[in-house]
Amino acid sequence: MRIVLMGMPGVGKGTQAVRLRDALQVLHVSTGDILREAIQAGSPLGKRVREFLDSGSLVPDDLMAELITERLSRSDATRGFILDGFPRTAEQVSILDRVLETLTVKLDVVFLLSASEEEIVSRLSGRRICPGCGEVYHVDNRPSGSAGVCDQCGSALVQRPDDTRSVILDRLKVYKNQTLPVVEAYRERGLLQEIDGSGDPSTIFERLRTAVGQS
Ligand code: AMP
Repeated sequence: MRIVLMGMPGVGKGTQAVRLRDALQVLHVSTGDILREAIQAGSPLGKRVREFLDSGSLVPDDLMAELITERLSRSDATRGFILDGFPRTAEQVSILDRVLETLTVKLDVVFLLSASEEEIVSRLSGRRICPGCGEVYHVDNRPSGSAGVCDQCGSALVQRPDDTRSVILDRLKVYKNQTLPVVEAYRERGLLQEIDGSGDPSTIFERLRTAVGQS
């Protein structure tokens, strides 16, 4: 299957994409993860995109076009994929259309995970990440056993630089201005399915799995 997973930053796209990937045995492409890895590695791409990520603004479309074209053209994408965090602008919808046309494949469905803005701000501002193994915690909803230390590998937990309150509000603004038109474009094409993104991750995943079975 070829799926686009959309929703406001912090709605749980990453968590659900990993579960869907495991259930469907398809590739998970998170553009945010790819960009963060490039920054961590200090690659030329990483150097070009760091400022955008730290400030919560979008990386320019031409760079994203290169990145997504390269990633979806690799052989592991032929068994299907879940796009998490792409497309995020109207131009990126066209970029994806062109890539899919070249590969002679089509999207099956676009899922939109929805939750209230209040819930999103609380989820993101309390989120803590383990830089060692990638485990995700929340200071209130999923605290680690010992404060600030990963239960799995013992590394010190960190807050993503773009998970601070002011950057979160900027990211939500970017979502409304630039990404809502993408939602509307897919709705007009009849590809959009809205999924209630409130509640715990397992409940949300059950909703998604049911929707996958029906699409
Ligand atoms: P995410 O992990 O999906 O929340 O993405 C984190 C950051 O990576 C975003 O705030 C953007 O700066 C950048 N980013 C990820 N995906 C895209 C995209 N499709 N277009 C532009 N910037 C992106």
